[in-house]
Amino acid sequence: MVSRVIPVEPFDLVIIGGTGDLARRKILPALYQRFVAGQIGKESQIIGAARSEMETESYRSFAAEAIREFTDTDEVKPRKLAAFLKLVSYVTLDAKGEAGWTTLSGMVQENRIRAFYFSVGPSLFGDLAKRLQKYGMAEDDCRIVVEKPFGRDLATAKELNRILARHFDESQIYRIDHYLGKETVQNLMAVRFGNMLFEPLWNSQYVDHIQITVAESVGVGGRGGYYDRAGAMRDMVQNHLMQLFCLIAMEPPAKFEPDSVRDEKLKVIRALEHVKPENIVRGQYDGDGQNPGYRNEVENRDSTTETFVALKAHISNWRWAGTPFYLRTGKRLRDRASEIAVVFKDAPHSIFDEDAGRHHNILTIRLQPNEGIELGVTIKEPGPGGMRLVDVPLDMSFAEVLGPDEADFPDAYERLIMDVIRGNQTLFMRGDEVEAAWAWTDPIIAEWQAAGTEPEPYDPGGSGPEEALFLMHRDGRRWREIKP
Ligand code: NAD
Repeated sequence: MVSRVIPVEPFDLVIIGGTGDLARRKILPALYQRFVAGQIGKESQIIGAARSEMETESYRSFAAEAIREFTDTDEVKPRKLAAFLKLVSYVTLDAKGEAGWTTLSGMVQENRIRAFYFSVGPSLFGDLAKRLQKYGMAEDDCRIVVEKPFGRDLATAKELNRILARHFDESQIYRIDHYLGKETVQNLMAVRFGNMLFEPLWNSQYVDHIQITVAESVGVGGRGGYYDRAGAMRDMVQNHLMQLFCLIAMEPPAKFEPDSVRDEKLKVIRALEHVKPENIVRGQYDGDGQNPGYRNEVENRDSTTETFVALKAHISNWRWAGTPFYLRTGKRLRDRASEIAVVFKDAPHSIFDEDAGRHHNILTIRLQPNEGIELGVTIKEPGPGGMRLVDVPLDMSFAEVLGPDEADFPDAYERLIMDVIRGNQTLFMRGDEVEAAWAWTDPIIAEWQAAGTEPEPYDPGGSGPEEALFLMHRDGRRWREIKP
């Protein structure tokens, strides 16, 4: 199977915050990979812009180092890298002042696609939007890309939306959630809406429950300052898990195009019931012999910030009434493993005797590692030992089915940046979606704060606090094992 790379039109992409961590680890390597793949032509321009005084040559060295360090391919080829670096230039720019803006406006070209990646903290969004307009760069065909966190609650998200809307139309704003750029997440839509097999069963009549797990084995590391003010609910549930949740639960959109898809996602969030305190567990990891506990890591001995959340959610609509969705995310868990599992109900009547056991189908969408989709089906255990049943996976590991080259998926940032250039907003969050997600999250956080309860401590390397297991056990269900 040969995948086609369709080159994008020539563009100017300005990375504001071009010397930052995100530019280094994700944006520059992603652009390089797309250049190597033949998707970005030699006429395009990539302009790094940040406060640091730097010449283009030094920025090219910075970019080369970033690409060598963070590109997954075995080897970065010097000639390819040199050709890519010719596209790259740098301008010293102050978001809060006038320095550098006239130079920048002279560098970007008229009558071609222009994108401005706001790879800076959200407190600078307003200044950047205002100056892009003042210096004549915010015309109709320009796009801006903004990163998470998009606000820390409904009020701040509304304020950010308001600031951006003063200078840009919604069709120009690309709010990134990199989970939506993952190959498997899009495959989830292909599986649901490209096959007759699943959609008729995709409802509360046939689905017992759905589990979404995003587990990390690492702790907060160097992000402690930010994380301690955010916590797992704001950092993971409100955005990444919510997006997965929407895609699995939404009605079929009329078309695979931005507003059709985003309208359906929004309806899911709006139909979400409030999660009662007894249906939610917060946890915080302890230390062990090798690693410090969370409170030591963030140097806040009284921190009540959660590093783990497990919750049971319900959607009040015809399709899902009665089917619970269990969401779980945490740091310092057993493994780095993310998956969505659709657990179907048992067959209504078993024609086999009790020895055969009870079995049900599970459709598992693995996001990381080993992206793939697996359908658990029940068959007869081979051999002469009578009619005993056994569950076996029908495994659609992409690496096996498509061959190693095809399964070498582009990083989510590669796809998303190319979508910005193509002007396709399908995989980006719309302003009202983000606000609706905060409107659901805010009361949960407010209740925690009012109750003043501490998160449940949990041992690193496990599956979170025991209370999270009870959340499932008391419903007669259990979490799937966290494993890669
Ligand atoms: P960073 O602190 O490493 O870099 C910030 C960049 O902004 C630097 O290039 C700095 O020079 C520039 N900058 C700061 N003030 C400026 C000003 N007044 N004028 C011009 N430039 C200025 O931050 P980062 O980790 O690269 O994150 C950037 C944004 O992306 C943040 O909003 C962050 O929350 C978000 N984000 C980062 C990551 C990540 O992996 N680093 C992941 C998701 C989201």
